[in-house]
Amino acid sequence: MLKDCLSTFSTRFQDGDKPLKNSNFYSSFFQAAQVDPTRPCLHLTQDGLWTYSRLLDRIQRTAAVLRQLDIDRGQRLLVQVDKTPENLVLYLACLQVGAVYVPINTAYTADEVAYFLQDAQPELFVHRPEDSERLASVCSQVTTLTLDAGGGHGTLTYAVDAAAPDDLICHREDDDLAAIVYTSGTTGRSKGAMLTHANLSTNAVSLRDYWGWQADDVLLHALPLFHVHGLFIALHCALLSASEIYFLDRFDPGKVLQAMPACSVMMGVPTFYTRLLDHPGLTRSVTDHIRVFISGSAPLTEQTFTAWEERTGHRILERYGMSETIINTSNPLQGERMPGTVGFPLPGVEVRIADEAGEVLASGEVGGIEVRGPNVFKGYWRMPEKTLEEFRSDGFFITGDLGTIDEHGRVSIVGRAKDLVISGGYNVYPKEVEKLIDEIPGVSESAVIGLPHADFGEAVVAVVVPTGDPLSLQTIRDGLKEKLASFKQPKWVINVDVLPRNTMGKVQKNELRQIYNDLFSGQ
Ligand code: AMP
Repeated sequence: MLKDCLSTFSTRFQDGDKPLKNSNFYSSFFQAAQVDPTRPCLHLTQDGLWTYSRLLDRIQRTAAVLRQLDIDRGQRLLVQVDKTPENLVLYLACLQVGAVYVPINTAYTADEVAYFLQDAQPELFVHRPEDSERLASVCSQVTTLTLDAGGGHGTLTYAVDAAAPDDLICHREDDDLAAIVYTSGTTGRSKGAMLTHANLSTNAVSLRDYWGWQADDVLLHALPLFHVHGLFIALHCALLSASEIYFLDRFDPGKVLQAMPACSVMMGVPTFYTRLLDHPGLTRSVTDHIRVFISGSAPLTEQTFTAWEERTGHRILERYGMSETIINTSNPLQGERMPGTVGFPLPGVEVRIADEAGEVLASGEVGGIEVRGPNVFKGYWRMPEKTLEEFRSDGFFITGDLGTIDEHGRVSIVGRAKDLVISGGYNVYPKEVEKLIDEIPGVSESAVIGLPHADFGEAVVAVVVPTGDPLSLQTIRDGLKEKLASFKQPKWVINVDVLPRNTMGKVQKNELRQIYNDLFSGQ
């Protein structure tokens, strides 16, 4: 059956008879995968091995189901599921039929999901079976299916099992949307970054070449699939080369170390590296087979970089990206990997440092990092004004990060203009948390900051002004429980009489960060 579909591939074009260049990223993956579909693809912790043939078969059956549901080009699929092979299948099938993939973190509460449903207006919402009750009240207006590896009646898996593979790859232009990735905004609500097929393809090809990907590389994948890091950056390199992937459902240091000797590339957030350093099983011999360790999504400290090198002999390659641009810069594969820097702009990507007015600054000066290139997103979903605000007239995107470029062209990040807290690799926007804390009885006002933390990188801390008695951490967390994903909730609460403010009335968070900087240093 699969062989038949593959053999018809070259003659099946959706728009007219003539073969057109199909910019659908799925088409590039398919071409790599169908060269030898018997190749191993996913090594799973529990369920053995998937070959590329099995992956393609499941994708094509899922594509058939999506088409039965009238999911077509440009329509959105909102997905809040655990990391499983079926999740990967759903993503790739969504691309195959030309729909737009919209992944969200499984930690989001029903209130938060209601916002994404209202904003993305998906034609289909896929969630975990165990969330049916929790989400029932918010998803009555949308077609909903559950993704269940067991495949009970009424689930997406059940429909996929019953469907015949559909090999038709939807024709997509460079500029057509492939995904919307929600990133929090300073206004507190998430913004949907619209990524095109060209964004995905050009960045994947660039990274494959820059990091020297070969078909025989084996990826150690322990990142989640609802974020660009795990979904695009890590996976696309492997999928474009039809490489093997050790596909761990989550990061578990013991399981990562078990898989490591069979792998050649690992990508992770800095927390992965600090947690592995805490594990006695991390030795030189366990990392022997690894060609490169890559880190990103949050700052990698020089201490971690050095400790990793001392323990394993490997210098971690740090790179810099974001939901809106996938990857911007990377330390080199060959040549000096400098701790504390995020390396050079990828080929075709321009990076500059500018002041608030957009005036380009000299080398070494600190300013806003701005980026232009084929990796830069199309804009924020249904937020034209916000999009306009974040782009210069010459097409540079204002990232909101602060940094410098040295005389050799190396970029370093020194801070975040947008006040973002990154805890365990996840973004937390203080304003969203503050708004909800301020609603808790007994709170007069609050300021949420990120403080250095050995495990999380930064820990979310709430500085509150109580109306009466001091408030405990438990009171604050109880007040947020139903409203906010747990990674966004404070790890500590500090009660103060007043918040420090400048003459314009703005809370001086730098001051708070300075005062409480060492809060977690003894832990
Ligand atoms: P996200 O959109 O979730 O990928 O978050 C993007 C933000 O993560 C960037 O704007 C940076 O502030 C931060 N980030 C990503 N990579 C690095 C890095 N290597 N060093 C420091 N910050 C980083």
